[in-house]
Amino acid sequence: MKDINTGIAQNLATLKQALPPSCRLVAVSKTHPASVIQEAYDAGQREFGENKVQELVPKHEALPKDIVWHMIGHLQSNKVKYLAPFVSLIHSVDSFKLLEEVNRQGGKAGRIIPCLLQVHIAAEETKFGFSREEVLEVIVSGKVQALGSIRIQGLMGMATFTDNVAQVRKEFGTLKALFEEVRQMNLPPNVEMKDLSMGMSGDYPIAVEEGSTLVRVGSAIFGHRDYTK
Ligand SMILES: *Cc1c(COP(=O)(O)O)cnc(C)c1O
Repeated sequence: MKDINTGIAQNLATLKQALPPSCRLVAVSKTHPASVIQEAYDAGQREFGENKVQELVPKHEALPKDIVWHMIGHLQSNKVKYLAPFVSLIHSVDSFKLLEEVNRQGGKAGRIIPCLLQVHIAAEETKFGFSREEVLEVIVSGKVQALGSIRIQGLMGMATFTDNVAQVRKEFGTLKALFEEVRQMNLPPNVEMKDLSMGMSGDYPIAVEEGSTLVRVGSAIFGHRDYTK
């Protein structure tokens, strides 16, 4: 097992080499201090992902302003306002109610906020997200068209946490198929299927093979997280 903070630049270089040009790397820096993120920044990484508003906001304040911040974790409606002025992409939009609140706060901040719809693909009950039918309903209902301060630019999903490669591949394949299905539809002007966010440290090679354009990798860059601090 790697020590925390060892060889961040090396880990980033190894990952970048493993990813095709069609796939971007979001470095998931949750639980790690700003100094560790700065180390990755100094190695050239600019896109970072966090899963908690209360971590993301102070890190945004403390770190260089050309960092591209991704919100990847479950987002409560009452916290959207803190992210609205600066967040680059919210991966974890898991209800229409949340999408409406992102739209409201985007309007207040004078921005159009890029969002992904999180889709429930795992066998586990605990993961958030839309079903396939709910995604199609959001897109075809016309409800999205009225939301002038958001843009839906793709889908996100998390596979089941398992060593069963076939199952993980099947789940990612299901998400890719939905992505392609939506892409073929007659889409409102503020919907564009270009980002498919799937793959973490344990499963990103499979996700890339299944068509991911955005992997969210934490521990393979920063080492194991210490949740006791
Ligand atoms: C923590 C997290 C990741 C990264 O997990 P690793 O296994 O450390 O790569 C990716 N996506 C989401 C939504 C996460 O919360």
